[in-house]
Amino acid sequence: MQLLEERIRKDGKVFPGDVLKVDSFLNHQLDAELLDAVGAEIADLFKDCAVTKVLTAEASGIAVACFVAAHLHCPALFAKKTRTLNIAASVWSAKAHSYTHGNDYTMVVSKEYLSSEDTVLIVDDFLANGSALRAMRNLCIEAGAKVAGAGIAIEKAYQGGGDELRAEGMRIESMARIASMDAEDGIQFC
Ligand code: 5GP
Repeated sequence: MQLLEERIRKDGKVFPGDVLKVDSFLNHQLDAELLDAVGAEIADLFKDCAVTKVLTAEASGIAVACFVAAHLHCPALFAKKTRTLNIAASVWSAKAHSYTHGNDYTMVVSKEYLSSEDTVLIVDDFLANGSALRAMRNLCIEAGAKVAGAGIAIEKAYQGGGDELRAEGMRIESMARIASMDAEDGIQFC
């Protein structure tokens, strides 16, 4: 998506540890018009999939997920992140590893909001190694829900998580795919 790539080129900052900071429009301050365009594009790609719920993870996926859900006319549901070991019986849970914090955590969603009746579109701001996406897919598997696929704002394609999940049969649509990035040479898109 050209609009998003242009914005990443203009405002994205490459940090050590393969972290792209996009705080000015996606992860801290939100450019609602841009995110609405991203949401419309993702929703259009999945419009024939009978999606009943958009699933994301707190906190940084929520903004994109809301715009996608508005265009698909369905609810957005965000998995909560917890370190609690005693997980209540009323939630679906899945383990994940945080790319940005480096720790393991558990994602939970209430059984009240995700069930075998649902067809889910998973949405996230970033896709790197794929741990967050796998955990959300596992939540859906636990719930018996169907996964239509995933809509991602920014995929760091060179980190391989997306291609692994595609090889496993998951449909993943990314609005910007980064082929390589570093502080000196900048950002190259696929
Ligand atoms: P993965 O689980 O695919 O390795 O990483 C995806 C998650 O880590 C996303 O939910 C996102 O919050 C975070 N993340 C991964 N890479 C980056 C990055 O370069 N920049 C930012 N801001 N977040 C990232």
